[in-house]
Order: sequence, then C-alpha cells, then structure tokens
Amino acid sequence: MRPRWRYRGCMNALLIALITVLVSLAALAVFVSGRRVVRDTGRLRLTEVMQYRGASLPDPLDEAGARYHAHAVRICIACPNKPLCDEWLRAGRPANSCAFCPNAHYIEHLRLGGLAFT
Ligand code: SF4
Repeated sequence: MRPRWRYRGCMNALLIALITVLVSLAALAVFVSGRRVVRDTGRLRLTEVMQYRGASLPDPLDEAGARYHAHAVRICIACPNKPLCDEWLRAGRPANSCAFCPNAHYIEHLRLGGLAFT
C-alpha cells in the first residue's frame, strides 16, 4: 500500500500545475488586450462613421439623448470591430451599410432623424 503523503504530493503538484496554467492564460489575456488598447490610436470612430452616414445628433441634445450617445461612445471605445471599421472608413463606402457596427441601429436612427429621446 502506498503512503498517503505520496498521493497528496502528486495531487498538490497537479494543483500547482493547473494554477500555473490558469495564471499564465490570464496573463496572456491581459497582455493581448493591453496591446490592443496601447496600439489603438484613441480615435473615436463613431463620429467618423456618423459623418460618413450623414447622421448627426439632435440639436438641442436633451439629457436622455446625451445618455444614449454616451452609451454609444462607450460601446465604440470597447468595440472589437475597429480594424473592420477602419477598413470600411478607408474604403470610403458611405452608401453601404455598416452592419458590423454595434451602433449601426443608433446611427441609422440618427440619420433618419427618427430617434426620439424624450
Ligand atoms: S464599428 Fe465599432 S469602432 Fe466603428 S463606429 Fe461602430 S462601434 Fe465604433
């Protein structure tokens, strides 16, 4: 019969290996997302896409409208489709839909002037 301490030692080694793998994966995820943030120019593409699509904010902008827009800005800042968005903007295709954009409906409502904030 094997001594219990050997079994425990083996389980501890497995646990340490598992924790090491998890910590390494977490560090890799932080590194990759950090690189993406650092490499980003900080440009707010939402404004550019709105201009391309002929959409503008209502004037005057009430509090509810400002809240909607702030939400759209936050979505834009965290958007994973920035490379696709840059490609779309570079190609200069204002007539084409930007369906890949998480703010596409918002922009379209603004373009059509149909967004009632109150
Ligand atoms: S595709 Fe993304 S980056 Fe481009 S305008 Fe829309 S939310 Fe912003």
